[in-house]
Amino acid sequence: MNKKVALITLGCKLNYAETSTYERGLVKAGCEAVSWTETGIDLFLVNTCSVTEHSDKKSRNIIRKLHRTAPQAAIVVTGCSAQLRREAIEAIDGVAKVFGAAQKNEVVPYCLALLRLGAAKSGAAGAKQGKAEQQDAEAGGQLDNDFFGAYSSGERTRSFLKVQDGCDYKCHYCTVPYARGESRNAPIHYIISQAEAIAAEGIKEIVITGVNTGDFGKSTGESFLDLLKALDKVSGIERYRISSIEPNLLTEEIVDWIARGSKVLPHFHIPLQSGCDTILSAMGRRYTTADFAAKIAYIRKRLEKEGRQKVFFGIDVIVGFPGETDEMFRTTYDFLANTIKPAFIHIFPYSRRPGTPAAERRDQIQDSVKTARVEALEALCEKLHNEFILANKGKESKVLFELKSKSGAAEGWSENYIRVSVPYEEGIINEIRKVTL
Ligand code: SF4
Repeated sequence: MNKKVALITLGCKLNYAETSTYERGLVKAGCEAVSWTETGIDLFLVNTCSVTEHSDKKSRNIIRKLHRTAPQAAIVVTGCSAQLRREAIEAIDGVAKVFGAAQKNEVVPYCLALLRLGAAKSGAAGAKQGKAEQQDAEAGGQLDNDFFGAYSSGERTRSFLKVQDGCDYKCHYCTVPYARGESRNAPIHYIISQAEAIAAEGIKEIVITGVNTGDFGKSTGESFLDLLKALDKVSGIERYRISSIEPNLLTEEIVDWIARGSKVLPHFHIPLQSGCDTILSAMGRRYTTADFAAKIAYIRKRLEKEGRQKVFFGIDVIVGFPGETDEMFRTTYDFLANTIKPAFIHIFPYSRRPGTPAAERRDQIQDSVKTARVEALEALCEKLHNEFILANKGKESKVLFELKSKSGAAEGWSENYIRVSVPYEEGIINEIRKVTL
């Protein structure tokens, strides 16, 4: 087809896997995937994010910049901001089509049709035609919950595999359920066929990805543990990381199975959001700090046997949720510093999202206060991360070497997510080797 397409991704690992899947479809049909800075581009495909107000603005700004850069090219937009801020995106010059969350299976066929019609090169003309199509396509515009399968390729050593989409939890600050729809997934046999396709590319590590990953099985009657057991048998894939999982869905049964020896690595990204029970219930979260602490302690007890490497916990925390007093923030700080002691804290200043219950609250927190709380947790995170590195000194771990650094060393991640660097050797990239941390 000899058409140039450039794909741009904003946001999370899920978006990254989806864009990579669109790219495979377009390249398979003969398109050339190029950087957005290249000249003579026929079509831009932008996968947007809407997790904060800032992400929405950033998505629109990038679309405007692309149109200024290549006014001849048509712009096709998908992703969470496309679902939640459709009108605002449609109004931007050069936008040929906006796809909602339920239409991801239509993205590549539409782009190919536009490119074949050569309408893509006629910018505005193409846009008009696309808009016409959209109007009749969008009647009723309801989200139906078909699942769009996706995985990332293009990285030599690791792939993000989407196993689940959407969420039924409706936490009081979050718009993801509105952007991505209800919790749903593909059947296990479908996910296994994708894992085998990834193994066929020579990739050895898979990051299991979703919106509410642990809720896998909701639309097929299967379970997340069933999925892990099936993935464990895929030959060629040596190790799995779970990208993020709700504490109540990382059950003791799953932890026990992992502890009995599986390819799932001792690296868990678990959203806490607050270390204060009053705020947790105001957020609509489904556990207390006592539940959370008990879960972390159980995982450590089962996986950190004598001499073994420490488990890497990456913990999400929102600061400045409406009503969070200095004292409540102090409670969160102390809970992290003295009870959970994670290896890393992912810190998010609360972002007021239209359409969420928390946005309606009158006791919003000032930005300057949020900033101060972010800085306090950043300092704590640095301290805890250094302590984690020290606590693993002298322990053994297997590292998947993924690149040769500028300094000429071979670098990769240990099983428990410590960055390791060793002298470069021919053939070391994409090899898994035991090292002493
Ligand atoms: S679990 Fe809560 S925070 Fe996470 S995606 Fe669902 S609604 Fe949002």
